[in-house]
Amino acid sequence: MDFGVYVHVPFCRRQCAYCTFFTLPRPEREAEMSRFLDAVWVEWQLRVKPRLDRGHCLRTLYLGGGTPSDLPPRALGTFLQRLGASVPAGLKALEEVTVECNPESATPPTLDRLRAGGVGRISLGVQSVHPEDLRRLGRRATPRQIEAALDAVAARFPTWNADLILGIPGSNERRLLAALDVLAARRAPHLSLYCLELPRARAEIVGDPQTEASEAAKTTLYELASHWLSEHGYEHYEISNAALPGHAARHNTAYWAGREYVGLGPGAHSFEGQTRRANRADLGHYVAALNSGSEPPAQRQQLSAAERWRESVLLGLRRRRGVDLDELGLQAQQAWIEALCRQGLAELQGSRLWLLPRGWLVMDSIVLQMVTAAEERPARLTSGSRPRYIRPSSR
Ligand code: SF4
Repeated sequence: MDFGVYVHVPFCRRQCAYCTFFTLPRPEREAEMSRFLDAVWVEWQLRVKPRLDRGHCLRTLYLGGGTPSDLPPRALGTFLQRLGASVPAGLKALEEVTVECNPESATPPTLDRLRAGGVGRISLGVQSVHPEDLRRLGRRATPRQIEAALDAVAARFPTWNADLILGIPGSNERRLLAALDVLAARRAPHLSLYCLELPRARAEIVGDPQTEASEAAKTTLYELASHWLSEHGYEHYEISNAALPGHAARHNTAYWAGREYVGLGPGAHSFEGQTRRANRADLGHYVAALNSGSEPPAQRQQLSAAERWRESVLLGLRRRRGVDLDELGLQAQQAWIEALCRQGLAELQGSRLWLLPRGWLVMDSIVLQMVTAAEERPARLTSGSRPRYIRPSSR
């Protein structure tokens, strides 16, 4: 049984204006962060080690957050060493070990330490290279720091990712192309492009209605980016992700393929085959439970067959490889599928259907069509409630 591990490090030096992740101000005292890492290590022993002992194969490790690269270097080094000692052949033998970094913490000494600790991939939160965009997002890094971080990462890691945000209020196509050019100059192996979700963004971003990015503006930016990616040799292999050949993200691809993963840390999510689990987003309760040797408080949801079917559709359509209609119990020869292909939104080969970038822009309505088609064939939904459409997270 293959699986991945995600570690959620909740600390950030400053809360970005648009952030919807579970984060906390980075503690002043390093001892508090060491206590947190000690608790994660206990959770690893309770939830990961038994799998390793049963012979399950840990393929990928991802440290996200938060800003894991901002942890005290010695404490982070000890933590990585502990994990490495617990994995057969160490962290370097895993398929992928990624750490998320913000540009201001992606300094040469930090990156060197991460590499020595077994980290093979960096995911850098660039978001934009324009000072006004960065100010609006509440980012700390300056364009100069971003370029220095990109150079430092590119010089040390054979594979890495840069995150960009589309649809920043007041931004425009010129600024997006400038950011893409900065990344192309470093031959960035992997890019993640997320549309800013304004309804969930904070008031200071949307404060000026004149500058709010419209859906039409976001569509234009997405299509521009998608065109740029194909012109520059990237495969747009998932709704928000593109990679040069051989650089697709393995950890995240396992999420989209429906493989199991164990999420450690407060607020971290896990998928255990038939069950989804979410650790409670509460650092105090998290550390207290693990200090007493118990698993942290968590919510669990057993997935019905209908829910698993719906997840297969949502996750499959996000990916360039799409879905197998036979496996979903749907017929390929249907008028609505032919219409999607005619309109340049999707392609069909045999029973495999995948969305094109223009189709990803209207994925919500395509999923609805698929659910409606499934409801007309209820025999394939073996149990549970009828599939309900949910909007997939872009991140
Ligand atoms: S650095 Fe990332 S996790 Fe931290 S506040 Fe900003 S967006 Fe959120």
